[in-house]
Amino acid sequence: MKYALVTGGSRGIGRAVCVKLATMGYCVVVNYVSNEAEAQKTLQLIAEAGSIGELLKFDVSDTAAATAAIESWQEAHQGEYIEVVVNNAGIRKDNLMLWMEPEDWYKVLGISLNGFYNVTRPLLKTMLLKKYGRIINMASLSGLKGLPGQCNYSAAKGGLIASTKALAQEVGRKGVTVNAIAPGFVKTDMVDGLDEAELKKTIPLNRFGEPEEIAALVGFLASKEAGYITGECISINGGLYS
Ligand code: NAP
Repeated sequence: MKYALVTGGSRGIGRAVCVKLATMGYCVVVNYVSNEAEAQKTLQLIAEAGSIGELLKFDVSDTAAATAAIESWQEAHQGEYIEVVVNNAGIRKDNLMLWMEPEDWYKVLGISLNGFYNVTRPLLKTMLLKKYGRIINMASLSGLKGLPGQCNYSAAKGGLIASTKALAQEVGRKGVTVNAIAPGFVKTDMVDGLDEAELKKTIPLNRFGEPEEIAALVGFLASKEAGYITGECISINGGLYS
């Protein structure tokens, strides 16, 4: 079996990525933090796509928990390894800097940025030994442009993009590629409460994106055909910003 790990695979973009990787023949390890029912639904969709999945519940922002979960997976799968990791888990806690509480700063950075470190580092050694790996990081338009009300989120995603570029240069010689994706507005729980009718007027394609459209790009970056792309951050935002 070929294995892929998707963090935040229980809902939204992560779920669509799990299904896409399943159609590519991957056994998908679905990480989530709390939403068991939605994670089970993702497993069901993976099965319907013709593959198998496993749940791996842990908080990506907790270094010890992430390390323990990944090590226990590796112990239970002797001789096998996770060759694709999609660092997708993320939250937003928007507020103007003036009113942003410390916990909302640290929480957002903890999941998107520290989560990338916590999950990627324990997987990296085997990828390097096997001389093949794909690391795909879910950044955001906010990490490229900076958005008001999102100093925490922009910092997390901007840091993720910079670290993507740095790590790509560390591991390229060993056949491991590292890329980021920067979506604009995508229809998931994360954008609930935003005024879609108003916001879509600012988007040249005049609509929000679908999770499956992001997953298609993840699928390509995860494929062998994308083997000469590394250190990139690819925007997918309906023309909103480039
Ligand atoms: P979503 O629908 O809100 O789903 C978030 C996912 O992350 C859920 O599976 C959730 O698990 C998981 N998660 C949250 N905290 C976690 C933690 N501490 N440890 C492990 N998993 C955790 O979000 P989405 O819109 O699909 O976003 C996915 C990624 O795309 C995020 O990184 C987000 O920043 C990025 N993004 C989204 C948009 C957009 O417009 N939607 C735009 C740009 C970038 P539970 O189900 O267990 O809570």
